[in-house]
Amino acid sequence: MKVKAKVKAFSKGKLGDKKRSAHIIVRKKFCRLCVDKVKSLDYKDGKRLEAFITERGKIVSRRYSGNCAKHQRLIAEAISKSRFVSLLPYTR
Ligand SMILES: [Zn+2]
Repeated sequence: MKVKAKVKAFSKGKLGDKKRSAHIIVRKKFCRLCVDKVKSLDYKDGKRLEAFITERGKIVSRRYSGNCAKHQRLIAEAISKSRFVSLLPYTR
C-alpha cells in the first residue's frame, strides 16, 4: 500500500493502530474551539483570531486547522469583521 493511500485509509479509520507504520505520524486533528466550548466569537478578540490566520494574513483552512464547519464559519465571519475595523490585516 502506498503512503498516501495508507494515510487516507488511516484517517478514515480503516486501519487499526497496529497497522500504522512507524514512519508516518498521523495526529488526529481536533477543533480547538469545540474543546473550549466556544459558542460565539468576538471580532475584537484579535489574539484569539490571530491563531487562525497565516503569516500573510490569510484565513487558515479547515484542512490545516482541523476546525469543525460550524466554528470555521464563525472564525471567517469574525476575521472579516476584524479586518474591516483594522484589527487584523487583509494582507502582510
Ligand atoms: Zn468546533
